[in-house]
Amino acid sequence: MNTLYLYKVSRSALRFVILLAAFSIVGIVITQVYWVRKAFDLRENQFYRDVNTALTNVAQKVYEVNKTPSPSNTPVSQISSNYFVVTLNSPVEGGLLEFLLVNEFEKRHITADYEYAVYDCIDKCMVGGTYISPKKTKLTSTFPEVPRLQTDGYYFAVHFPLLRADLISQLGIWGFSSAVMLIVIFFFVYTLLVILRQKRLSEVQKDFINNMTHEFKTPISTIALSAEVLKQPDIVHSPARLQQYTSIIEKENSRLRDQVERVLQIATLDKNETPLKQDRVDMHQVISEAARQVQTAMESRNGTLVTAFDAAQFVVAGDPLHLGNVIRNLLDNAIKYSLDRPEVKVVTGNRNGKLVIYVSDQGMGISTEEQKRIFEQFYRVPTGNVHDVKGFGLGLYYVKRMVELHHGRVSVESRKGNGATFVVELPFVS
Ligand code: ADP
Repeated sequence: MNTLYLYKVSRSALRFVILLAAFSIVGIVITQVYWVRKAFDLRENQFYRDVNTALTNVAQKVYEVNKTPSPSNTPVSQISSNYFVVTLNSPVEGGLLEFLLVNEFEKRHITADYEYAVYDCIDKCMVGGTYISPKKTKLTSTFPEVPRLQTDGYYFAVHFPLLRADLISQLGIWGFSSAVMLIVIFFFVYTLLVILRQKRLSEVQKDFINNMTHEFKTPISTIALSAEVLKQPDIVHSPARLQQYTSIIEKENSRLRDQVERVLQIATLDKNETPLKQDRVDMHQVISEAARQVQTAMESRNGTLVTAFDAAQFVVAGDPLHLGNVIRNLLDNAIKYSLDRPEVKVVTGNRNGKLVIYVSDQGMGISTEEQKRIFEQFYRVPTGNVHDVKGFGLGLYYVKRMVELHHGRVSVESRKGNGATFVVELPFVS
């Protein structure tokens, strides 16, 4: 009861931590995006101010050189985010304009690539367009169509084709901090996934240990009780009781041995210590032998086991002991998970050059969601806290691994409450 309570608390605590973590990650990302945007906007505005001042100064110098009066309002107008037009009173010579632009932009540390052109009001087109790259990034670009201005006067235009990229490249520290943040998030999510996986694994193992203790407790205490009885001195006078208690000990002992063997089967399987034999195995014989082994269990439950050996080819290459265990596990389950009288059927056949073995029962069946998980190690379909059917959740894991080691496949067809059919396909490998 206590452990159950602790387990529940830690689970809700974990959920709370995950929620909190998700919330803070979202918060950090939003804050970062906000500050990066803000930094970008600041740089953009600074850039516009610098360009405006630089171009005003250039215009001023042109007025001085041409000895024309400067206009009362600002000569610079921004047509789009990266396109500026400067109105003049008289024509300007291309070489002079370039000299003034380079000079002014350099003074204001404007490093973005740009191109400029002068409007020729006689031919009504842009002339003298040149591409200038202060950072010497080699790039050619065509000068965009200049929008037609209201007046027919003189003007020149400056266009920054790579402005966005240039501004972004100036956000160095922000780019770095964003990358660091992404790495931190990645590690965080990865750690969380590992924790969740470990937690699931430890829960599963805890279940397994609980299960095993439970399974071993009953035969051990039965043997202890029987031994107590056998220790009584007058037992020799009642041979019937003597016989009864020794056979109880024998039965419980073989139950224990079976269980230990089952756990050991998996232990060796996991250590890859199973040297598989490659004998010629008559599967019909193997099935008959397994059927014989479960006969007592079947009789004690008043069940029936029918076999229909329809396969024409039934000799496969493999390990007879393990293949026998596979069939035995499936038969044990068919009996265990039948609610009242087990009605089990084993049918063989040949399909696509393989031997197919169907083990079906009319038992409690398995829902579609559970079917995906029953072959996992330690997995048992939850039945609430009812320990009515005993097991370790290892049988089907063993079946799957073994069948795969024989290059075969195992699957299940079932509906909850309507029995189950396990299908084992084995190829005839030489
Ligand atoms: P165990 O039987 O020891 O619990 P298994 O690995 O053999 O472990 O089976 C895993 C689970 O699959 C079982 O707990 C049971 O819920 C379900 N299962 C297996 N065989 C059948 C069957 N024939 N009918 C219904 N459920 C089954």
